[in-house]
Amino acid sequence: MERTLSIIKPDGVAKNVIGEVVKRFETNGIKIVAMKMIQLSKHQAQGFYAVHKERPFFNSLTNFMTSGPIVVMVLEGEDVIAKNRELMGATNFKEAKEGTIRREYATDIEKNVVHGSDAPETAAFEIKYFFNDLEIQNR
Ligand code: ATP
Ligand code: MG
Repeated sequence: MERTLSIIKPDGVAKNVIGEVVKRFETNGIKIVAMKMIQLSKHQAQGFYAVHKERPFFNSLTNFMTSGPIVVMVLEGEDVIAKNRELMGATNFKEAKEGTIRREYATDIEKNVVHGSDAPETAAFEIKYFFNDLEIQNR
């Protein structure tokens, strides 16, 4: 059993697709074991995306991520890191496969509706960034 962090980004929340995203997880055998809505400060967004701090889009990305509320979730399931990335689709929605979340709802390479951890090490860091052990259900 594996865990991963999923975020519905500010554009996804603003577009009222929280339910659509959650439905895709649940209908694909993924369990949601933690969930909350928060709004990040600039400092918190910079800490979360620290791996991208040298990228040209870092400032824009961290501004965007603070622009409104986000929904953060811990997902659990077999091979869930890869499974979630598959359901999300490519970073650039124009390259995302038909039927993926980003293909369906993204409008921009930056405003791409969802985030998902990309490896076990990043998943562990990202889950800890938002949730303590008491906030994650063992069901
Ligand atoms: P995420 O980490 O959000 O799940 P990802 O792993 O598909 O997405 P990364 O390369 O980690 O993509 O980039 C992190 C985020 O930075 C992207 O989801 C997107 O919001 C933004 N981003 C990536 N590339 C660009 C770009 N060329 N221009 C603007 N924003 C970008
Ligand atoms: Mg990434």
